[in-house]
Amino acid sequence: MNGEMERTPGGAVLMDGGRLRDEIVAELRRTVDSAGSPHVCLATVLVGDDRPSQLYVRAKHRKAEEAGMASKGVELPPTASQAEVEDAVGALVADPSVHGILVQLPLPDHLDPEPVLGLLTPEKDVDGLTERNMGRLVRGLPGHAPCTPLGVTRLLKRYGVTVSGAETVIVGRSTLVGLPLALLLSRKGVDATVTIAHSRTPELADLCRRADILVGAAGAARMITAEHVKPGAAVIDVGVSRTEAGIVGDVDFDAVQAVAGAITPMPGGTGPMTIACLLENTLAAARMLGGFPAG
Ligand code: NAP
Repeated sequence: MNGEMERTPGGAVLMDGGRLRDEIVAELRRTVDSAGSPHVCLATVLVGDDRPSQLYVRAKHRKAEEAGMASKGVELPPTASQAEVEDAVGALVADPSVHGILVQLPLPDHLDPEPVLGLLTPEKDVDGLTERNMGRLVRGLPGHAPCTPLGVTRLLKRYGVTVSGAETVIVGRSTLVGLPLALLLSRKGVDATVTIAHSRTPELADLCRRADILVGAAGAARMITAEHVKPGAAVIDVGVSRTEAGIVGDVDFDAVQAVAGAITPMPGGTGPMTIACLLENTLAAARMLGGFPAG
């Protein structure tokens, strides 16, 4: 790893997602400007008044603007019906001025996300969550990969973590994070050896301690402690738990940074990278839809 990188008090390289996001947004801006600033538009759909979701969506719009892209926000009340949400998404799918659509999850409990996501075309599904894009990921075909897992791979690359041949343990098996991340890291050419752990995994700490790369994607506050970490390992925190003390990750940062070789902060690690990858996918969507010159 590069010696100029910021380090934690314990000497681990700090994998700064905010910094890498800014680099990616600046690069996107250069690409958009040098193409003559064609209209590239990300649309978001937010249902309900969950404060963190509102903040996430706002950040996505702000960063889209910084990247030289337009954005459109559709907001529906917490009482919105399944049909109203589906109509709103359907209208964006039909709108040729919109290139990427992000439905902010989770939806309120009374709504079923599956038929909503099912309306998205693979090109406009910049969150990479539809069956078609998931299938493409499994098959190794081009398509939009889910943004959070993609962001993890970008962080590992940017901070010089060796992935090929690395024993990798991902704690969490959701279709949003753990499973697609396992697919991305184990695909040919990336070549990590991946184990997916979950709530039924016995002896979790022993398993995690084998990992050269350890990813917490469980949503269980500070569950990954120093005893889970092999000295020198790269530790990536995806989990977000809201506690009275504020946002807490899956990784007990203070203890783990003294053992790890590299670590993401929380906040400021995987969250900003999710946004950066969403904007990269939006530019790719505009290219797929013929709204942007081929790269
Ligand atoms: P999810 O659907 O609830 O899945 C959580 C996974 O973690 C499940 O597979 C679960 O096991 C496993 N798990 C939970 N507690 C565990 C424990 N104590 N030990 C071992 N495994 C455990 O959540 P998700 O959608 O994948 O999200 C995971 C976390 O990432 C959440 O905190 C979410 O807020 C956060 N997130 C962050 C970003 C970002 O940008 N940083 C983006 C998306 C999500 P079972 O399958 O056995 O139940």
